Amino acid sequence: MILKIDHIGVVVRDIEEALKVYRDVLGLKVSHVEVMEEAKVKLAFLPVGEVMIELLEPTDGEIGEFLEREGEGFHHIAFKVENIREMLSRLKEAGIKLQDEEPRKGSRGTLIAFLDPESTMGIRIELVQES
Ligand code: ZN
Repeated sequence: MILKIDHIGVVVRDIEEALKVYRDVLGLKVSHVEVMEEAKVKLAFLPVGEVMIELLEPTDGEIGEFLEREGEGFHHIAFKVENIREMLSRLKEAGIKLQDEEPRKGSRGTLIAFLDPESTMGIRIELVQES
């Protein structure tokens, strides 16, 4: 079951530059910063009510390729789910293509998995389960 929108992912070249807009001008507060070594990305979370903006600054990897190809901008919507494994098997049965067949470690101690945007009308969807 999808509980809510957890966050909206935005790819940026430089988090410090992005914070000059999102924090200093728009007035949002940074709640959490984390470097994900495996995914080769630095993250900053800025809550907006119940939803967070996630700024992603890639150093390489898949998100680095996205930045080179598409430039800065909207990257994904993350849905908070109750049970990520159950959700993934239900989606797979329904014919949805998955980028992550198995949940992997996300930031803030979460489990995450991405769906293939080909199956979801061009929108990259991330599932997040709090552990
Ligand atoms: Zn995300």
